[in-house]
Amino acid sequence: MPASHLPIYLDYNATTPLHDAAMAAMQSVMGAPANPSSVHHHGRQARFEMEKARRQIASLLECQPAELIFTSGATESNNMVLAGFEQVITTTIEHDAVRQARPDAHFIEVDENGLVKLDMLRSALKGLSDDVRAKTLVSVMAANNETGVIQPLSEIAAITKEAGVFFHSDMAQLPGKVPVNIETSLSALAADGLDFASFSAHKMGGPAGVGALWVRAGRRVPAMLHGGGQEQGWRAGTENLIGIVGFGAAAEATEKRQAQTEIWQSWRDEICAHIRISCPSVICFSEAVPRLSNTLCLGFPGWSATSAVMALDLAGFSVSAGSACSSGKVKSSHVIEAMGYHDLAASCLRISFGWDSQRDELMMLADQLIDLYKRQA
Ligand code: PLP
Repeated sequence: MPASHLPIYLDYNATTPLHDAAMAAMQSVMGAPANPSSVHHHGRQARFEMEKARRQIASLLECQPAELIFTSGATESNNMVLAGFEQVITTTIEHDAVRQARPDAHFIEVDENGLVKLDMLRSALKGLSDDVRAKTLVSVMAANNETGVIQPLSEIAAITKEAGVFFHSDMAQLPGKVPVNIETSLSALAADGLDFASFSAHKMGGPAGVGALWVRAGRRVPAMLHGGGQEQGWRAGTENLIGIVGFGAAAEATEKRQAQTEIWQSWRDEICAHIRISCPSVICFSEAVPRLSNTLCLGFPGWSATSAVMALDLAGFSVSAGSACSSGKVKSSHVIEAMGYHDLAASCLRISFGWDSQRDELMMLADQLIDLYKRQA
């Protein structure tokens, strides 16, 4: 592959390139006055576009369009749900959009593979009074942004249903990154007992700054923004039509390109094996459990993630440390810590690829990683 193809983007779990269909859809509504609440021609046209997007997203997620509230992203969706409950039980590996929203939560541990300890969850839910149950929410992410680990949501939903508490899942990383045979559809989970789920457009080829909260029919969340009563009164403010339309088109594209995830899994496993032949000390996190097909999280003993990300950047590859904070600095990963790998929490790299990625790019990255790691050792 010629060097002119550099830099190569392999950080799809941070954000994804805008899909062509999303770009075209956004351009088609850009410029016209578009307030979906207005009753005249322009307003009705805007509402038509918005409701079309809602149907496109509902089709991907397998839910009812009326169950989706548009928000500014998964952060807002998470905050909205979590604000509605007196008691929150969550896990030690959640995204900060959950951890920081409810630092008072009860945190359930994960095992060395990053799977939630279901026995701890069962114990935490034992013996709650009717009054407390009605005010308790369990929040467990569907797929971890750092390791890609997919939690057994059906099992968790069965536990929360039996305990009579509410269940929310941050699903920002899931759509489009798992084979369809993994049972993750909202309709199946809703039957088991899922009540709320958060989504983000920019993780699936849509624009940043728009997302959705799925609220199972009959459930309620507190409104965080009060005003003109948009989104059934749950989220006031004139809707971000351009973003919403881009989200809808990206969701439709995601549904169509789902089959690609099968090949991703084999690429992921191939580069992991390739790196480990040359660098046997490298740890591949969560190998033994279901993961997103596009995500590989590796621990490099003795190598600081900050140096690794910088060295790879200079070599033309954009990847992430396990965890990055908003200032751009790399901090140690609370997820890897929670899995018990304290020595590797500041030495882990996340490679996450996607729809525009090529196998050759991943192999080039693997060779570069091997070279850099050997040189610093
Ligand atoms: N939840 C998870 C699991 C994420 O990976 C992210 C983004 O990194 C978010 C929430 C926040 O999403 P948004 O950027 O749409 O607010």
